Amino acid sequence: MSFTIHGTGICGGIAIGQALLHSHTRLEAGHYQIPQSQIEDELARFDAAVTKTRREFETLRENIPSKAPPEFEAFIDVHMMILNDSTLSAVPRKIIERERCNAEWALKLQTDELLSQFDAIEDAYLRERKADVLQVVERIMLSLRGQPGYVPDLTAAGQSRILVAHDLSPADVLQFKQHQFASFLTELGGATSHTAVVARSLNLPSVASLHHARSLIREDEMLIVDGTQGVVIVDPDPQVLADYRLRRHQIELERQKLRRLRSTRAVTLDGVDVELHANIELPDDVAEVDEAGAAGIGLFRTEFLFMNRDSLPNEEEQFEAYRAVVEAMRGRPVTIRTYDLGSDKNIDGMERPLLQNPALGLRAIRLCLTEPQRFQIQLRAILRASHHGKVRLLIPMISGAAEVEQTLAQVAIAKQALVARGQQFDAGIEVGGMIEVPAAALALRMFTRKLDFLSIGTNDLIQYTLAIDRTDDAVAHLYDPLHPAVLHLLALVISGANRTGTPVALCGEMAGDVKLTRLLLGLGLREFSMHPAQVLAVKQEVLRTNLSSVRLLARRMLRVADRERMRVMLERLNAD
Ligand code: PEP
Ligand code: MG
Repeated sequence: MSFTIHGTGICGGIAIGQALLHSHTRLEAGHYQIPQSQIEDELARFDAAVTKTRREFETLRENIPSKAPPEFEAFIDVHMMILNDSTLSAVPRKIIERERCNAEWALKLQTDELLSQFDAIEDAYLRERKADVLQVVERIMLSLRGQPGYVPDLTAAGQSRILVAHDLSPADVLQFKQHQFASFLTELGGATSHTAVVARSLNLPSVASLHHARSLIREDEMLIVDGTQGVVIVDPDPQVLADYRLRRHQIELERQKLRRLRSTRAVTLDGVDVELHANIELPDDVAEVDEAGAAGIGLFRTEFLFMNRDSLPNEEEQFEAYRAVVEAMRGRPVTIRTYDLGSDKNIDGMERPLLQNPALGLRAIRLCLTEPQRFQIQLRAILRASHHGKVRLLIPMISGAAEVEQTLAQVAIAKQALVARGQQFDAGIEVGGMIEVPAAALALRMFTRKLDFLSIGTNDLIQYTLAIDRTDDAVAHLYDPLHPAVLHLLALVISGANRTGTPVALCGEMAGDVKLTRLLLGLGLREFSMHPAQVLAVKQEVLRTNLSSVRLLARRMLRVADRERMRVMLERLNAD
């Protein structure tokens, strides 16, 4: 029977495909005692799960998709080896006998033991195999429960599959990037959580805050995802399915039409140039930046380089990553943001106490400044990359003048170190700050004096202005970019920066929302940075805009307190 679930759309468009339910099984091993008389049965159950897992690997190997990366076969071989090793296939049997416990618990005990040994290994390559062990264990766990294989699984994924998860971390989404899902659905999460930001960067219609989705949706069930409306239709009727297929086709045609604007100059009807840049998370994203014809990279979220790995990238590795991006951009500017970790973006090995308010804690530049050694490594790597093209350095979440001074002092130390080593860099590299905290917006002068440019991070600015956790779906409905307080802060920052001649960009999610393009232009913004997939749609909006006619209305919107009136005025602004 067909039914609909409502959530929060995090990326527009329509996806149609079959559900693939995702669970974090290894966290959920139960423990119970097995009577002596049933130990043999429990051993047989464990053996059967191992055999089933082995068969799954064999099937995977026989059906490697032609588009799969070459490493995929080697990856299956490694998993097969791990499975066949006695540490996983035999030792848990001994534990079942000794402890008289269920097979899941025995497997969990043995996994914990193995993982602690991995942590002590010096060799980075071997240490990284820890993730492989975990994936094999997950698969055996699922077999023990009689459930189908875990994610990621390239054969299970694919363009017609829709991943349904309780919650996904930004690192999870990043890992699933290569698996080509048609869509991501999560039970938790808000529209501007970092998870949503990454999902949007994949340009996949996705919906968050779908409470109980995993208990309502069955494995393999047909789903329609309307990311624009934030709606999922489960087991749709043939007529509804046909309608949505048609709509999906129309959206694709629209996209193709937009591609024609790739090399068109972004200029308003009255001749004002607008710079449209792109946001990236990883060096590979540059291909999409090129496809979109963006004028540069306005935000490189470098913290994603630090995720899904056991050890942090060293200076050389970071330098290579930054240089690859800079060279691929062939002279166009690349704004590299120093790592913005903490809050909802964490990395393995960065164990921190659970905090009541992580978004208000040691994150972003605050964290960098408490770890000068780690910060220096990144600064040196970025500086070295600046020798290979146009690089700008961006500091996340500044809130006070002291942070700027300390950061500039750190940059000076990194420069000295490179001079001492005889390594080259752009001595005049521009250093900018992100305006994401209301205090920074209100005390802008403090920053325009010391910094070369500003970039407004509206995702956090809205979170901190409205006191709404951007990852908490319970308050997601209150997250409002058009709240008068938010618009006032934006107007303040844009006009303050323009007055002092400090270049200012906006790189939060608002920059890629075509419904807001005219409003932002009217408030004086001339530089936008967004997901590559949005650049052409925003360019189309710029090309249709007459600045002189939107300016007045945009300023008037600053005085509107009523939400409904604001909606009507926005419609007027966007009319024609
Ligand atoms: C922002 O806060 O708007 C921003 C661009 O940074 P991030 O989303 O990475 O926090
Ligand atoms: Mg931010």
